[in-house]
Amino acid sequence: MEFEAVIGLEIHAQIATKTKMFCRCDNDSFDKEPNINTCPVCMGFPGQLPVVNETAVSKGIMAALALNCEIPEFCKFDRKNYFYPDNPKGFQISQFDEPLSKKGWVNVDVSDTEGKIRSIKVRVTRLHLEDDAGKLMHVRNGSLLDFNRAGTPLMEIVSEPDMHNAAEAGAYAREIQKIMRYVGSSEADMEKGMMRFDASVSIRPKGEDKLYPRAEIKNLNSFKALEAAIEYEIARQTEEWNEKGPRKNPITVGWNDDKGETFFMRDKEESDDYRYFPEPDVPPLKIDQKMVAKFKAELPELPNVKRARYVAELGLLDDDARILSDDLKLARYFEKVVAKCNDAKKAVSFINTILMKHLKEELISVDEQKVTAAMMADLIHLVNEGEISNNVAKIEVFDEMYASGKTPAKIVQEKGLKQVSDSGAIEAACKKVIEANPGPVADIKAGKDKAIGFMVGIVMKEMKGQANPQMVNDLIRKLLA
Ligand code: ZN
Ligand code: MN
Repeated sequence: MEFEAVIGLEIHAQIATKTKMFCRCDNDSFDKEPNINTCPVCMGFPGQLPVVNETAVSKGIMAALALNCEIPEFCKFDRKNYFYPDNPKGFQISQFDEPLSKKGWVNVDVSDTEGKIRSIKVRVTRLHLEDDAGKLMHVRNGSLLDFNRAGTPLMEIVSEPDMHNAAEAGAYAREIQKIMRYVGSSEADMEKGMMRFDASVSIRPKGEDKLYPRAEIKNLNSFKALEAAIEYEIARQTEEWNEKGPRKNPITVGWNDDKGETFFMRDKEESDDYRYFPEPDVPPLKIDQKMVAKFKAELPELPNVKRARYVAELGLLDDDARILSDDLKLARYFEKVVAKCNDAKKAVSFINTILMKHLKEELISVDEQKVTAAMMADLIHLVNEGEISNNVAKIEVFDEMYASGKTPAKIVQEKGLKQVSDSGAIEAACKKVIEANPGPVADIKAGKDKAIGFMVGIVMKEMKGQANPQMVNDLIRKLLA
């Protein structure tokens, strides 16, 4: 039997705020000493009152709008009751039946195995707000608790089961990461645990519409793990179906990254199990629709729109436009360079090749190196003005800029790299080379144009690469005419 996989994702993304969701503790706990960002509210002490973080709500709305969600006029918080040692309140404050937003969608480009790109539409069921639990660390003789993360503001983005393989799920997750960064709602830094995935995977005979009981893979914290876990689970379920037929009940599984396998955790809990009820300590929110309209108008250009514009307006190749728009910092840098040098194509050829090579080697972002957009624009300007050749710019000048942070003009001057456009000097060199190379000269006179390139090469060598090659070419033709 042939099967089709059906995949939906829940994505938890940490909202970029200064303080936690319901208290004033610092929201930045990465690499901090354990249990220093805590207070009676996020520790769940009796008698404490949570207060909603307004910025978290605003950033949640921005993110929801970027995902084309509707923002109802009213939303409320609910208690999701469960005990776990890292959950000091004994419940999570989340949103159940009246979430911040619902009914959105996002277009996602997926590249298939041959590298061909196709677009899929993934519906977004809802984006709601909630607070995070603390962290439990299992050590040799027990377990340690760090509550710094308890109360961190989260957006939970729930998709419809609109994806059918690991590549689609991976592409959707990456698109969400980009969008969150573009609107500034989350830094979505996977290494810092700011974005995590739960993937619901089921299979069905190809051609059927019915959904069969799923396995939810919990807490995947990298794109690689997400894709690998989905692939593993599809294969496992196919084997299971072939042996025993379709499964009867949904399950929750974990992912063992070392073994590359999912493992059974429990039968899946359903929402009834959490005994949701309205959070009595947090009043419902009325969302001002005028403010929503204002946010909508203020939404920045989103990644896929930016990419399309780079192609249509600036004449970039699709691949180049994608590389730039995938990384908002890089896109901003590129736009600054173009604004200054007015040469998008040359900007791409400098940024996407030589600069990117360094960034990839060092695993740093464009903001963490010394070549500013202004310096890059100046470098391109020097080439376009004929002051230095393209090769000298890309290799000698750029490398020195990157290493020392010196301006291109200064480097060109210090290293004497200025292209010689003094026709006297070039003419002298041409004459010398013509005298020394009677063979090629005869070829040129016989109409063999290839020999001209050869002669230009020798003259360029003679002038240590600093002659203007077009001038050399013209002069040789003139001298032999
Ligand atoms: Zn607190
Ligand atoms: Mn959640």
